[in-house]
Amino acid sequence: MLITADRILTDTGTYLEGGAVLLDGDAIAAVGPKAEIVRQAGPDVPRLAHSGTVLPGLIDSHVHLIFDGGTDPVAGLGEADEVLYDRMCRRAEQLLRAGVTTARDLGDRGGLAFRVAADVEAGRLAGPRVLAAGTPATPPGGHCHFLGGEVSGETAVRDLVRRNVEAGAAVIKVMTSGGGLTKDGPSSWQSQFSAAELTALVDAAHAAGLPVAAHAHGADAIAEAVGAGVDTLEHCTWMTETGFDLRPDVLRRIIDENIAVSLTVSPHWRMLPQVFGEERAAVMFDQVRQMIEAGANVIVGTDAGVQRTGFDGLPGALPFYAHLGVPNDRILDMATRGCAQALGVGDLTGRIAPGLRADLLLVDGDPLRDLEALRSVTAVVAAGRFNSLPSKGRIAQLRSGNKQLGESG
Ligand SMILES: [Zn+2]
Repeated sequence: MLITADRILTDTGTYLEGGAVLLDGDAIAAVGPKAEIVRQAGPDVPRLAHSGTVLPGLIDSHVHLIFDGGTDPVAGLGEADEVLYDRMCRRAEQLLRAGVTTARDLGDRGGLAFRVAADVEAGRLAGPRVLAAGTPATPPGGHCHFLGGEVSGETAVRDLVRRNVEAGAAVIKVMTSGGGLTKDGPSSWQSQFSAAELTALVDAAHAAGLPVAAHAHGADAIAEAVGAGVDTLEHCTWMTETGFDLRPDVLRRIIDENIAVSLTVSPHWRMLPQVFGEERAAVMFDQVRQMIEAGANVIVGTDAGVQRTGFDGLPGALPFYAHLGVPNDRILDMATRGCAQALGVGDLTGRIAPGLRADLLLVDGDPLRDLEALRSVTAVVAAGRFNSLPSKGRIAQLRSGNKQLGESG
């Protein structure tokens, strides 16, 4: 397939005007000026002329396909595995329709996200590439204990890592602090594991060649996770019992050791001042600004599945960074190339370059000028599979309708 477009976003953060991308199976064969690529393609290649922008497919660094994104996501876990699995497949399709071609699933129950990942990879399901963690490690009664990963002591921690590795994990998830989703667990600012347990977990994961994603709200938990050598810090809100405490020495280590800060931003971020109070929200916003200005490797996620966070939310979350003053080219880079690098799939996706998987997002308009253009998805190409949206449908339309994603080629 040959796609020609008004604009193609290259990894320099600028547009190639009047360009073309040539696909070969699941990979990008060539990208460049239209005339050159058309010549290379030959006359028999199917063509799509897109009046708009082609950019790399978006990456959501933090989702939970197992949760429903409603007011009580934990309640839904009562369903049988097959019911849950079916819903997870629908949510994967939703992510894809929103332009997400790679999603990291940071915790499910019973290895169901591994099944979704395998079905997408085999072409049985239209969805993003899923990098699944499986069962997150948590102490007995700890954050997300209901997902089945309660462990205590270094041996049990290593054992859980081994079970996840054997089940097909792409990343190991550990809950280093409490979290809001677990009403009967520790508070978000409280630490959950000893240094020895965290070190054992990181050691076992790295020995298996897998990165570690640490859920860390507490300032203490962030410092402990950094000390143990984790690869990505999830949420990273620097909470204490009484407020927040962004520690410059810990932030320095995060930057020096290139630990990615995987911020989870709800598409309803504009509501945060009402939810947390003006003052608290202002501090939280300012901490993010400080981390970005200091040079932290911030990547983007939504925590899709948790309370009031659906699977179509990434385009609505990205303007949060623009609100903080981050330029659009940097935001799009964070949501594509930067995320891919941090998640260890930078050689596979995140850029439009020959040899990489054909993960592309086709939108109307100009997202470098206005991020709202990301909501005008016309087609998504995931690993070379072309998913066109009905009648240049907008995401808002799709939300309300029961239109299905057409798949071809
Ligand atoms: Zn999460």
